Amino acid sequence: MSRDLSYLKSFDGVEVEIDKDLKKFSTMRLSSSGDLITIKSVEALKKVTRSLTEKNIHYRVLGWGANILLPTRSDRPYLQLDFSFDKKILENSQEEYCLPASISLATLTAHANRFGLKGWEVFTGIPASLGGALFMNAGTNLGEIGSIVKEVSIITKNGEEKTIKINSSSFSYRHNHFVDEGDVIYQARLFHFGIDSEISKKIREYLEMRTRTQPLKEWTCGCIFKNSQDLDRGQTCRAGHFIDIIGLKGLSYKNLQISPKHANFMENRGESSYEDVLTFINIIQKEILLHTGVSFQIEVEY
Ligand SMILES: Cc1cc2nc3c(=O)[nH]c(=O)nc-3n(C[C@H](O)[C@H](O)[C@H](O)COP(=O)(O)OP(=O)(O)OC[C@H]3O[C@@H](n4cnc5c(N)ncnc54)[C@H](O)[C@@H]3O)c2cc1C
Repeated sequence: MSRDLSYLKSFDGVEVEIDKDLKKFSTMRLSSSGDLITIKSVEALKKVTRSLTEKNIHYRVLGWGANILLPTRSDRPYLQLDFSFDKKILENSQEEYCLPASISLATLTAHANRFGLKGWEVFTGIPASLGGALFMNAGTNLGEIGSIVKEVSIITKNGEEKTIKINSSSFSYRHNHFVDEGDVIYQARLFHFGIDSEISKKIREYLEMRTRTQPLKEWTCGCIFKNSQDLDRGQTCRAGHFIDIIGLKGLSYKNLQISPKHANFMENRGESSYEDVLTFINIIQKEILLHTGVSFQIEVEY
């Protein structure tokens, strides 16, 4: 890489790895490399975003890499948060939780399961950091994470803090309406709708259903396409169903395969690149359009 980021190593709470192998930093395990900046505190985050912006270096934020296709060689450095927090907050149920963006949804699901937090079942089984889930408004058939968020705290590209009060127009389907270019979500305040002893049953059943119907052990990036609305009929068109009925389930391209378990998932079965995935997505999109006349938008970020 031509830019020199090693000066950031002198900042407290910052680690810099130049030209790092990033294969393990996305759930699809694409062959990829780039510069990775790991940030361990809010103060460090402020300094890093301000400094990179002053030097006109554009960066991307990386959560768990569960909804992102990493390019073979990234032109922008990745910022990844690794904030510590007081784990005692999860030892009991609270009315509200102030949590770092780097915490995993799996940790929060385990907490909801233990204490029966109503509303938190909506993100059952989604592999994500809290920050990535908020950015995407991640959700399941049970609902979306946006429904249990009170406030989101952000550091801007100029190193300034801003707090967003969430309202009914803050989120839409797999989308937030408050993160601007260069913003990094570092914390969020979540609430719940009370304690309900049925929640752990709901979470368990939902996890079982997901394990049965989705390729959770394979290298994937979740659903490739967003479902779309048929406005004339008021129905949801499920991308996986369309791919299935035109007979593409199981189709392969190089080391990639449309999952035999769920047709909206693409499995990486060896060495695959960003270019391979985009080529395969393009082929699938064209086939769906040709056979059904429906065009699905891509859900995964690229
Ligand atoms: C097996 C599997 C199943 C899945 N099932 C679901 C599902 O049921 N429902 C669903 O909604 N999704 C699902 N996904 C997709 C994925 O889990 C979600 O989109 C999730 O929200 C991504 O979170 P992440 O931390 O991995 O974010 P990343 O993929 O790392 O990033 C996604 C986007 O968020 C941005 N971002 C990440 N962190 C921050 C931050 N702190 N501040 C600002 N921007 C940030 C990134 O820059 C990027 O633009 C699935 C994925 C897999 C692999």
